[in-house]
Amino acid sequence: MSVLERFRLDGQAAIVTGGNRGIGKAIATGLAEAGADVVIANRTLESGEEAAAEIEAETGANAIAVETDVSDEAAVEALVERTVEAFGSVDVLVNNAGIAIHGDAEEKSLEEWDQTLEINLTGAFLCSKHAGRVMIDDGGGSIVNVTSMSAFIANYPQKHVDYQASKGGLEAFSRQLASEWAEHGIRVNNIAPGYVATEILVDDQEMIDTWKSEMLLDELASPEDIAPLAVYLASDASSYVTGASVAIDGGYMVR
Ligand code: NDP
Repeated sequence: MSVLERFRLDGQAAIVTGGNRGIGKAIATGLAEAGADVVIANRTLESGEEAAAEIEAETGANAIAVETDVSDEAAVEALVERTVEAFGSVDVLVNNAGIAIHGDAEEKSLEEWDQTLEINLTGAFLCSKHAGRVMIDDGGGSIVNVTSMSAFIANYPQKHVDYQASKGGLEAFSRQLASEWAEHGIRVNNIAPGYVATEILVDDQEMIDTWKSEMLLDELASPEDIAPLAVYLASDASSYVTGASVAIDGGYMVR
């Protein structure tokens, strides 16, 4: 098989949480371009359906949307059931859904802390658990978690201890899961982006200029800069890669 053929995902079913916009949409589009049937899982069905329709039109692959709150176990179970019903399996899971709530640690409410952990970390656990059961029965699969360079460094000048904790936890979770599920043929890897121009970032030019001053490549990433690594990690191109975390941060962490 040629190198490029190893990136193909024809006949495979991929769930992308938060696939309706931003990084998740770019990843879902990339997986569809590689031939996968794609399931967009986010909280607002309308935006998920719009993204699915755009992806189908752009790539010719099959794409559906399933309204899902990743922190709700019953909804996640229904997402996995719907995926199997529509496409016969779950071969790829991309845990991408996430939120960030800025605020001083000494003022942060328990509610904000819990919400961030429930979506960013518990959500990835729940999706992995239910998609993983199908992958185990089918003899394997690939899980890609969108963590963050925030798992490895302190962010500045914004403040969000809960976000940092959720992404650090997701990095550790992935390594352990990679170890536990290697025997089932399931690979688990992380993408750790730096600053990517999406809705999750605050619209504050001074803050953005501070971040840019710390990067080697001077510009924020675009979601499309993240997607190729997701296709690599999802596909057989990375068949010997598991338990790894790859940063796409424009060299931010070098300094
Ligand atoms: P966006 O805010 O554009 O996307 C966040 C996505 O998560 C949306 O699709 C949203 O859809 C979905 N989402 C949020 N909560 C839930 C939930 N409970 N259940 C299901 N889906 C949910 O930001 P990004 O594209 O930037 O973020 C994607 C991931 O990338 C996040 O995990 C983020 O932490 C990570 N990341 C982003 C960086 C950046 O600089 N942009 C840097 C490092 C990591 P909806 O609201 O409709 O549910």
